[in-house]
Amino acid sequence: MRLTSKISLILVTVVLVTGVLIGVLCIENTNDALDEYLYETHEVMLNEWARTFVTYYTYNGESWDGVDSIGRMMNLQQAGVVLSNLHGRILYHYDVNYIGTQVPQEIYSRGYILRVDNQVIGILYPAALFSDTFMQLEQDFVKSAIGAVAKGVFFTSLFAIIIGMGLSFNIVHPVRELTTAVKRMAKGNFEEPLPIYSTDEIGDLSRSFNMMAQEIEHGIELRKQMMADTSHELRTPLTVLASKLEFTLEQNKPLETEDVVVLYDEVIRLKGLVNELQDLSKLEAGHAMLDKTLIRFRDYFEDFTVLLEAEAESRSMQLEVNLEQAPEYCYADPKRLKQIILNLVNNAFRYTPEGGKITIEARQEGNDLMFSVQDTGMGIAPEDVDKIFERFYRTDRSRDRESGGSGLGLAITKALVEAHGGWIKVASKVNEGSTFTVMLPGWQEPVEEK
Ligand code: ADP
Repeated sequence: MRLTSKISLILVTVVLVTGVLIGVLCIENTNDALDEYLYETHEVMLNEWARTFVTYYTYNGESWDGVDSIGRMMNLQQAGVVLSNLHGRILYHYDVNYIGTQVPQEIYSRGYILRVDNQVIGILYPAALFSDTFMQLEQDFVKSAIGAVAKGVFFTSLFAIIIGMGLSFNIVHPVRELTTAVKRMAKGNFEEPLPIYSTDEIGDLSRSFNMMAQEIEHGIELRKQMMADTSHELRTPLTVLASKLEFTLEQNKPLETEDVVVLYDEVIRLKGLVNELQDLSKLEAGHAMLDKTLIRFRDYFEDFTVLLEAEAESRSMQLEVNLEQAPEYCYADPKRLKQIILNLVNNAFRYTPEGGKITIEARQEGNDLMFSVQDTGMGIAPEDVDKIFERFYRTDRSRDRESGGSGLGLAITKALVEAHGGWIKVASKVNEGSTFTVMLPGWQEPVEEK
């Protein structure tokens, strides 16, 4: 069943149930009110005749025998009362034809009970209850009340259907649009956003849906870009390999050692690229498990300072390592931390000309480790600064592959830092140099010396 029909049906059911309840209560109340009216207008008379009948009953040896004739004797014709015994058999009626007959069922419970010493001896009714005119009046009254309720129910139901349709249109329309949008998305069309009609929950749903669609579209775009970039990056070494081998085959000559060295270099580069890609996709998917531990930072860093110094010397560069303010401990995966540091320092070497200077500094800020690598190299143009952490992004795309890397280094570094719960940022000026700063959150518990 459609939502519109469901909402209308619920509203109409509520109206009908309310109408029936009001009808029943109305009939009950009308009967009670009429009885009350009748008894109140006849109260004095009923009390008087109740006393008379009770006296008769008591003096007659607790019996009603002969009450009909006594009644006539006492001129009860004008009294307008009817007397019955407990079982509803009429003992006195101004019309003798009724004596000995049964009180009609619908009146039976509406009498005035006569008691002697708390014992019920009979029931007294105002004669009006037995008159057709009064009953007709009562029925007409009830009928008109029910008629009014029925009319009310009919018009309220009509109103409920109209309101229900309006209400459900308001609810159903955006839901239908959502359904159409989901179908559109299933076919790969993410361009058309959902219109937002309201600020209520449905509006929130539409907004969240648009956000989700944007995220998915962005994800698909990234994946496409990644596929395109990956195949582009793989194609270059593969082309070198293929053409070298093709040439050798054409020449019908065995491979020279230098050729094998070139081919081997390309294979190694290819292998490195594939490994980096795998590493990055694992990190981005959150599948890379970090083996974090407390590291004695200074000892740890000194282990590879020697290597860095040798590299600086071979490149005729100055290297300054400043660990005075470094924390005693840091909390990280040692292998991954080394990868982060080496990626940044290698870039600094790679993008700084001979004679330049590289400054490595580590300091403690609160509980956290702040690590920076500063160089006096070529720097990064402002328009590139935000992009260098994207995979395969190189500021100079046409640069010789020998001088540049795969363009994955900073993407991996950023993913590693973030996997540790930290951040990385860069400040740079063209031809003056760049400073990369990494924050790694520290261990919150006090360190126990072993
Ligand atoms: P690559 O392997 O090309 O170095 P990265 O992801 O490590 O890839 O770096 C991306 C790009 O950012 C580099 O191609 C380079 O243009 C720029 N870059 C990175 N580090 C520096 C730096 N220290 N100085 C200048 N440019 C840098």
